[in-house]
Amino acid sequence: MSATLCSALQGAAVASYRCRVVEHYWVNRRYKYIRLASDAPLARITRPGQFYQLRCPVTEAEQPFLLRPMSVYGAGPEDGRIEFLYSVTGAGTRAMAGLQDGGQLDIVGPLGNTFTFDPAFKRILMVARGVGLATMAPLIQQAAGAGVAISAVMSARAPDDLMEKEFLRGANAGVHRVFDADGSSSVESVEVLLRRMIDTQRPDAVYTCGSHRLLMLLQRVLADYPEVRGEVAMEQRMACGMGVCLSCVRLFDCDGDKQFLRVCREGPVFSIRDVVGEVEFG
Ligand SMILES: Cc1cc2nc3c(=O)[nH]c(=O)nc-3n(C[C@H](O)[C@H](O)[C@H](O)COP(=O)(O)OP(=O)(O)OC[C@H]3O[C@@H](n4cnc5c(N)ncnc54)[C@H](O)[C@@H]3O)c2cc1C
Repeated sequence: MSATLCSALQGAAVASYRCRVVEHYWVNRRYKYIRLASDAPLARITRPGQFYQLRCPVTEAEQPFLLRPMSVYGAGPEDGRIEFLYSVTGAGTRAMAGLQDGGQLDIVGPLGNTFTFDPAFKRILMVARGVGLATMAPLIQQAAGAGVAISAVMSARAPDDLMEKEFLRGANAGVHRVFDADGSSSVESVEVLLRRMIDTQRPDAVYTCGSHRLLMLLQRVLADYPEVRGEVAMEQRMACGMGVCLSCVRLFDCDGDKQFLRVCREGPVFSIRDVVGEVEFG
């Protein structure tokens, strides 16, 4: 294990871990799956919703400076195994995409908080779009393991972008698929769908990640269902990931108390009801 204790700020578990790439492949034309092995018990210390800061490699073509935040997509079954599902976007993830099996990747974490989940829940509803599914996939496994029923609304540009298999990973769920290509992902259509699902299925909690538009829609819908818990995993650009640089602050309204909170430290999971969508200055 190469674990340099990183900061007293985050508690003893946060460290820098030197990992070995044990699997790395394209899931589709935009996303790659990577599985890492460490001597440290990463699967045991990592919770759904948490993330790591990845030290993407420096290559001839790409020199990523900052570490890149990435949600944990999966962990285990061996103690030292951890998985990420990532979109190849800019310098860091392009450099990472070139890592070969047996290559080395340093990661710092686990960082951030986790979703609120009660094994006594009867049903949860997941609303996912794009890479948000990677963040919520461990929660699906947690719910399935606890025998909690799962409903999901999956939104994507087109069927090829959906990644339903990657989201569910064998778990049973009632999935509604909506697409930009046929207009079924419009706010109006999804609102009708969500209200019908909540009315008929009465989920204990709704979780979302990956779309500001869906987040704002859920905030509006959940205002009519005060008994349903709502949580969002926020993806905000960040630099340090440890609460120091303050580049990831967002405004929240916690029962009338307006506060700037750090997505990396107080989040990334927040109550859907507390998110402030638009900030007006002046
Ligand atoms: C908590 C969290 C979880 C995430 N999970 C996933 C996931 O599971 N899968 C996935 O594909 N993506 C995820 N993302 C998004 C992912 O971090 C970005 O897509 C990735 O950083 C892009 O890196 P890049 O080098 O390819 O792109 P680039 O655009 O070249 O670099 C982006 C990086 O630049 C830095 N940066 C840029 N602008 C600013 C700024 N204004 N302030 C501070 N820093 C800045 C950040 O460190 C950022 O990581 C997550 C983001 C967050 C915050």
